[in-house]
Amino acid sequence: MSDFREDGALAVDWVASYLERVGELPVLSQVEPGQIRAALPESPPDEPEPFSAVLADLDSVLMPGLTHWQSPRFFAYFATTASEPGVLAELVIAGLNQVGILWRTSPALQELEELTVDWLRQLVGLPDGFTGHIEDTASTGVLAAVIAARTRLPDRRVLVCSEYAHSVGEKAARLLGLELRKVPTDDEFRMRPDLLGADDACAVVATIGTTGMTSVDPVPEIADRCAENATWLHVDAAYAGSAAICPELRHHFAGWERADSIGVNPHKWLGVPMDCSVLWTSREEEFRRAFSLVPEFLRSPDDAVNLSELSIPLGRRFRALKLWAVLRCYGRAGLQELIRDHLRLAALFESWVRDEPGWEVSAARHFSLVCFRRQGSDEDNERLLESVNASGEMFLSHTRLDDRYVLRLAIGNFRTTEDDVRLAWDVLRREAAAL
Ligand code: PLP
Repeated sequence: MSDFREDGALAVDWVASYLERVGELPVLSQVEPGQIRAALPESPPDEPEPFSAVLADLDSVLMPGLTHWQSPRFFAYFATTASEPGVLAELVIAGLNQVGILWRTSPALQELEELTVDWLRQLVGLPDGFTGHIEDTASTGVLAAVIAARTRLPDRRVLVCSEYAHSVGEKAARLLGLELRKVPTDDEFRMRPDLLGADDACAVVATIGTTGMTSVDPVPEIADRCAENATWLHVDAAYAGSAAICPELRHHFAGWERADSIGVNPHKWLGVPMDCSVLWTSREEEFRRAFSLVPEFLRSPDDAVNLSELSIPLGRRFRALKLWAVLRCYGRAGLQELIRDHLRLAALFESWVRDEPGWEVSAARHFSLVCFRRQGSDEDNERLLESVNASGEMFLSHTRLDDRYVLRLAIGNFRTTEDDVRLAWDVLRREAAAL
C-alpha cells in the first residue's frame, strides 16, 4: 500500500493546481458519448497500483470528460462552488467515515447537524420553531416533505405546484402515486393563488426562485389558501434560499415562515460541495410519524431522537462538517459579500443585454440569473447556445418561457469576476455575429 501522507499531499496539491487553472480549461466537456469509458481498461486490475497512477489517469484520461462546475465561467443551470473550506472538510469527512444511523453512532455528527441547520436558519432570518436536518438533494427533501404531508392527510391524493415549478414535485407525485396538479402562472411566471384549489391536496409546493427564470410564487397568498384547507405548504427555495442571508433580499421570502417545510441547497449558492440540502420543518412530529421505524437491532438505551427517524435513509454522511466549515470560514459577512457581488454582476450583464440592439431581456431578474435572447427565431438562439458552448470559453443553458427559447446566464460561482462576465458577453456577441 502506498503512503497515505505522501499520497494525501499529492492529492491536495493536485486539487490546488486544478483550482488555479480551472478557468483555463474548456468549461463544457467536448468528448463524445462512450469516449471516456473506451479509454479505460474493461476489467479491474489484479495487482495493487499506486495512488499516483489514479491521479495520472485523472489527468490523462478523465480530464477531457469533465465539465468544470468549478470554472468561473460556468453559467449554466445554477452555478455552484465547492469552496476551499468545503473541499478540505470533505477530505476530513471521508477520513472520519462517520455513519450516522443513530445518535450514539456519532453524537457529534447529529448534534453538529442540528446546530448548523439552526445557524443557517438564523442566517436566512427564519424564526425559532423550525428544526431541520440535511438531505442529499432538494429532490429527496421535497419527496420527504410530501411523504410527511401525505401521512398527515392520507385521504388526499393530489400534489399542487406551478407550471414553472421544478420537476422534483412531479417526480415526488409519481413516486408516491399522487396526482400532480399544475397551477397556471401570471405574466411574471408566478403561481396564481386565485386558481389554486387546495382543498383536495395533501401538499402545495411553492417556489422562491424557480429554476427556469427565478420567479417567486406569492407565498403569503398561497399560505392563506393552504391554511384555509389545512394543506401542507412546502417552500422550495433550493437555489434562492441562500440569498436570504442578505436582509435587503428578504422581501422575496415574505411568508415562507408560514410554511410547514422549506428546502434550501447550500450546495447551490453557498460554497458547500455536493451534496448538502437543508430541510427545515415547523412540524417535526409529522416527520417523525412518517419516518420513525426503529427495529430491535437499532434500539438503544439513550432517549435521543435519531435523525434517521426524520428522513428516508438510515445511514447519513457527516455533511454537517462541510456546512460548518463554510459557515465559519466565510462568516455571515463573507457570504453576504459574495451573494451581493453575484447580484451586481448579474445586473451588469443584464444592462449590457438591454442596451445592445438586437438582444432582449426575457424575464424580470430577482437574483443572479439573467434570462435573455437574441431577437430572432428559437433556432437562431439554439444555434448560438451550441456555438458558445462548443467554444469551451463558457457554459450556458436554456429554458422555454411562454414557449420561446431563452438563454440563461446564472452567476453563482465564488470565483467568477467581472472579467469573466465581460468575456461571456464578448463571446456571445462574437458568436452571434458569426452565425
Ligand atoms: N428545486 C429547484 C427550485 C431547483 O432549482 C433545483 C435544481 O436546480 C432543484 C429543486 C433540484 O435540486 P437537487 O439537484 O438538489 O435535487
